[in-house]
Amino acid sequence: MPRGRRPALRALWSGALVLALAVGVPALERTGLVDGTGVASAEPRHYPTPGFESAGAPLGRPDPVASPSASWSAEERGADGEPARWDPCRPVHHVVNPAGMPPGGEEVLASALERVSRATGLRFVLDGTTDETDRATPYDPQRWGDRWAPALLRWDLSEERAVWLHELAHTVGLGHVEDAEQLMNPELTEVAGFAAGDLTGLAALGTGPCLGEV
Ligand SMILES: [Zn+2]
Repeated sequence: MPRGRRPALRALWSGALVLALAVGVPALERTGLVDGTGVASAEPRHYPTPGFESAGAPLGRPDPVASPSASWSAEERGADGEPARWDPCRPVHHVVNPAGMPPGGEEVLASALERVSRATGLRFVLDGTTDETDRATPYDPQRWGDRWAPALLRWDLSEERAVWLHELAHTVGLGHVEDAEQLMNPELTEVAGFAAGDLTGLAALGTGPCLGEV
C-alpha cells in the first residue's frame, strides 16, 4: 500500500456524520459534551429512556494487551477529562448502507467489526441495511423507537480492511496519533492492523462502568 494521505477518511469526517461521532453521543452526553438535561422543558424529549438493553455488567472484556503503549489518543473527552466511550454493558447497534459495496464487502466489514470487538470487548449487533446517507440526530423515535439510533456505516469510502479498522476505531472513540507505527496515524501507511498503542487505547475505551443513565 503506497504511502499517502487518507483523503477519503478526511472527506468522511468533514462530511456527513458517517461512521463517527453520532454513535458516541450517548457517551458524550453523559460526559457533558452534549446537553441532555431537557427533562423539564416543554420541548419534545431528545433522548430515549435511559438504560435501554443495559445488562448491568459489561457484555465482554477486551483481549489482554500484550505490549501496553501510551501511543493513543481519545477522539473526544468530556468535561471531566474522561474519554467519550460506549456503554460496555449493552450492544452497539449498527446499520449498513451498502451503496458502493464491492464484492466481498460484507466479509471485510464483518472481519473488521470482529477485530474491533475483540480489542474493545464491545458487542456489535447488525440491525440490517439502510438507504440513509446522513444522520441528523442520534435520537429519531419515529424511525428507531425509544432508543439511540444505530450507528450508520457507509461503504462509499474504501474496500480496504485497514481503512475500515481505522474508521471503526474512530467510532469507538479512538483519535489520531502522530506515531507512524500506529494504525491511527492520519496518513495512509503500510500499517495494516492495530499496533500496540491502538490496542491499548481500544482496550481502555472498552473498559469502564456501565453507562445506564444514558
Ligand atoms: Zn482517521
